[in-house]
Amino acid sequence: MDRTAISGATRFVAVMGRPVTHSLSPLIHNAAFAALGLDWICVACDVAPEHCGDAVRGIRALGIAGMSVTMPHKHTVLAQLDELSPDAARLEAVNCIVNDGGRLVGLNTDGDGFVAALRADLGLSPQGLRCAVIGAGGAARSVILALSRHGASRVAVINRTVANAQVAAALSPESFVGSESDITTADLVVNATSLGMAGTNASGEGQVHPCDPALLHSGQAVVDLIYNPLRTSWLDAAVAAGAVGANGISMLVHQAAVAFTAWTGLAAPVEAMNRAVGEHLAVVAGSGPDGEKS
Ligand code: NAP
Repeated sequence: MDRTAISGATRFVAVMGRPVTHSLSPLIHNAAFAALGLDWICVACDVAPEHCGDAVRGIRALGIAGMSVTMPHKHTVLAQLDELSPDAARLEAVNCIVNDGGRLVGLNTDGDGFVAALRADLGLSPQGLRCAVIGAGGAARSVILALSRHGASRVAVINRTVANAQVAAALSPESFVGSESDITTADLVVNATSLGMAGTNASGEGQVHPCDPALLHSGQAVVDLIYNPLRTSWLDAAVAAGAVGANGISMLVHQAAVAFTAWTGLAAPVEAMNRAVGEHLAVVAGSGPDGEKS
């Protein structure tokens, strides 16, 4: 990167989180700015929980064009914002802030990113699909809401902790707490748990699959939101059973693409963003069994 090209006119966006060193947001957004020849940069800010409010007020004070928000700040930032998108308000979680002339608008781009990825990877629309989402955390909730909003006929929520499944299932009229039989009968099965993620099974013990792969079969589409490793053994097993499958890279890129457009007003160069993250993760995959946390 040519740092001498950064001038007083350069616009900047940032990602705030803790830890944030391994965030892929700077890589993806800088690839996008470069692809379009924009005089913009993205940097990462390690923000302690007690400084979250100061950091958000700093967006306005410093004229930062936009901010990606990651853990542990996705909920805490809500109180500092002037406006929330319907998804961010419903999910009570913000992953993107737009500085609209000093007015700070909070978005949650994960759900739209997931739906765009489904279309790009598998040529699928949620319209009329019977879906099973395994998991009930932040990613699962975004996916459940997006699937419902885009016309899924039903969304079964299956999760280790039933109380969390109940909260997630309350997000839409189409979603309910489901069981293994809903996985078998689903057109689309999504792993939104962290099971299978690099570094989560260091001991080699315990469950590594979000569900028994024997429940999966041909005629189904299976998406694993995990992208590190690029392919989990669960996704491999689903494809071996005849399902069509996709990993989480495309969602990662498309949620960033929605943020890019919200900040710049321009269509995102998705191909360049995909290439940058794909090349990076391929290098990480070759670096060791657990790779690098992302
Ligand atoms: P989260 O809020 O911490 O939720 C974690 C989920 O995993 C919960 O449902 C939790 O169940 C479940 N879980 C964790 N350990 C488990 C175990 N040992 N057995 C059974 N269930 C277990 O995390 P998140 O932010 O939603 O992220 C979830 C996954 O999605 C991660 O792998 C993350 O990398 C991925 N993700 C991908 C993208 C993308 O763009 N591709 C975006 C966001 C997240 P309990 O409720 O029982 O604890």
